[in-house]
Amino acid sequence: MLEAVMVALDPTPAQERLLLSHAGAARFAYNAGLAHVRAAIEAKEKPEWSLYGLRRWWNANKDTLAVNADGTPWWRENSKEAYSSGLESLANALSNWSKSRKGERKGRRVGFPTFKAKDRQRPRFAYTTGSFGLIEGDLKALRLPRIGRVHCMENVTGRVRGAKVVRMTVSRRAGRWYASLTVERDAPTVKQAPKAGAVGIDLGVKTLATLSDGTVIENPRCLAASERRLKRAHKALSRKTRGSKRRLKARNKVARIHARIASRRRDLLDKLTTWLAGTYSDISIEDLNVAGMVRNHRLAKAVNDASFAELRRQLEYKTARTGARLHVVDRWYPSSKMCSRCGRVKAKLSVTERTYRCEHCGVTMDRDLNAAINIKVAGSAPETLNAHRGTARRNDLSGRATLDPVKCEPSRGDNRVRLGADGRKTVLQATTN
Ligand SMILES: [Zn+2]
Repeated sequence: MLEAVMVALDPTPAQERLLLSHAGAARFAYNAGLAHVRAAIEAKEKPEWSLYGLRRWWNANKDTLAVNADGTPWWRENSKEAYSSGLESLANALSNWSKSRKGERKGRRVGFPTFKAKDRQRPRFAYTTGSFGLIEGDLKALRLPRIGRVHCMENVTGRVRGAKVVRMTVSRRAGRWYASLTVERDAPTVKQAPKAGAVGIDLGVKTLATLSDGTVIENPRCLAASERRLKRAHKALSRKTRGSKRRLKARNKVARIHARIASRRRDLLDKLTTWLAGTYSDISIEDLNVAGMVRNHRLAKAVNDASFAELRRQLEYKTARTGARLHVVDRWYPSSKMCSRCGRVKAKLSVTERTYRCEHCGVTMDRDLNAAINIKVAGSAPETLNAHRGTARRNDLSGRATLDPVKCEPSRGDNRVRLGADGRKTVLQATTN
């Protein structure tokens, strides 16, 4: 079983220069490989663009490609892993393009890879072989070949907990360096599923999440403040002249606020998913089709979509640990527009309507609660049980008749959700008129 562990690094200025150099090496190998493949295509030859082929080509040509002005090769300055990771991302990009062209890949069409520019790309490289990773007896540090012992902001050994580190990606975001470790651990022995029954989760923009039993997990106030600040920073950025120093400064500020909000949300989701996976036996969430998604420029929505992917990722491995089952409901299932009581689907539901009112059965309830109940029902449709990526359609919902949202009591967990000092929680109930 693979898991991802991300830690913030605390490099010295000298190490930071080396990190940038390694990221530059990865970019160099990527661009050089791409130029080679393009030249071969233009010459009507068949280029070898598998990772294996690209590596062989690189090893044969690196002494002539990566040379200083005086003709001496400089590629030895960086770990060979850096070049290798650049070639790896090129091989992936080419394979995605090729599959997309042949219709073997779902989602948006993937174009032919383009050259990576220094100022437009996030610095990044990876280690997959060699003596990288944890350092015995040194809890808050990682070993990066050619760079040395790099101090971490937290106890990384504790986070990895004895698992094997198989890959380490180092990248910079909003001025900070992070190491993302892929760790391999034995699949946990499946325990008995947690006691509380099924639950559906609707992730919101205004609130963090609404559960089908009426529990609402609010966004902490500090997050809303950061989001307001982000909006302001964005506005300031849009007023700056293109290519100016001030624009660059404004862009960095936006990136910093973005990163702060993202890490706060991730922390909240971490607490939420731990609690969910340890409490409910069946957890239903909506699918998020990232590849096929229409690009959305609305800020709050973009942040929300990122949370969605993170919620799913965390639930996937945490439910595997606790023995709970995770059900993923088709994204196109009308969870918001459908009445969770009678099953009628509204033709239109504006985003601003916070309350769901059904003209047919007269139920009135919070919009997100209605959606959460629908997600729960769709997730417990017979064919989705135990189906990890199961989908459900409206006409498959045989369980509907047994579910009465009015009786959906906010029973358990009321005082068990602890989401930090200002993570507030309220409970919603449906009313009929
Ligand atoms: Zn209804």
